[in-house]
Amino acid sequence: MSEAGRQERDRELGENLARVQRRIDAAVEQSGRSDRPQLIVVTKFFPAEDVLALTRLGVSDVGENREQEAGPKAEAVAAAGEHPRWHFIGQLQSNKAARVARFASAVHSVDRTSLVRALGRATQRLAEEEQGRTEPLECYLQVDLRSEADRAADPGRGGAAPAELPALAEAVAGQEGLALRGVMAVAPLGEDPAAAFERLAELSLALRRDHPDAAEISAGMSGDLEAAVAAGATRLRIGSDVLGPRPGLG
Ligand SMILES: *Cc1c(COP(=O)(O)O)cnc(C)c1O
Repeated sequence: MSEAGRQERDRELGENLARVQRRIDAAVEQSGRSDRPQLIVVTKFFPAEDVLALTRLGVSDVGENREQEAGPKAEAVAAAGEHPRWHFIGQLQSNKAARVARFASAVHSVDRTSLVRALGRATQRLAEEEQGRTEPLECYLQVDLRSEADRAADPGRGGAAPAELPALAEAVAGQEGLALRGVMAVAPLGEDPAAAFERLAELSLALRRDHPDAAEISAGMSGDLEAAVAAGATRLRIGSDVLGPRPGLG
């Protein structure tokens, strides 16, 4: 990209980011909350240069959903001297857990005990390396908020059934190297996101009875951040309203 093109892109990112921050402020005000959810800017499909522009604009947390893309991007960003916290938000195969644990501060898509074990093993191995990992890997339990019938008709979408959460939480809590932080969900298509996020808030409440520190709620994307803030989300994962429409697949 030419220098002029880069400057234009940086200006655009700054404007988009400011617009999203104002939306979050308005949603917080509207909901009467005294805390402000944390913004995670989802940079999937966009280059490391955009991540660098965002960190220079003050973004501390970025999200990615594919290991093959995120690993090299995180390395490029670190090589340029910026160190945002990387949140892994996509479906994750256990055999990719070790690679994700290398760069991620948090994984929002923990949805089965086999993945918990793989992440735990990987984090412990990294901790044993020279200058290895010192922080635990933060884990969010991803919940599939669709109806039981929809889950049965179309399995494999990512996310545990609500009934599976207690056992999954125990698995994370009992795994050295991992820290249970809370729940995560994507609002199902074809349903009012407000209703879905209310169910997520109830599941969060139930989780906190046994795990009081697991109080975070990761919910809310570009199209539904207001509903998520109203329902108590503490982490917002916003992509296209900051970066623009995703090239290609998206
Ligand atoms: C892509 C993605 C987002 C961001 O979605 P936008 O609509 O672009 O804001 C949030 N959460 C997950 C799990 C995603 O895959």
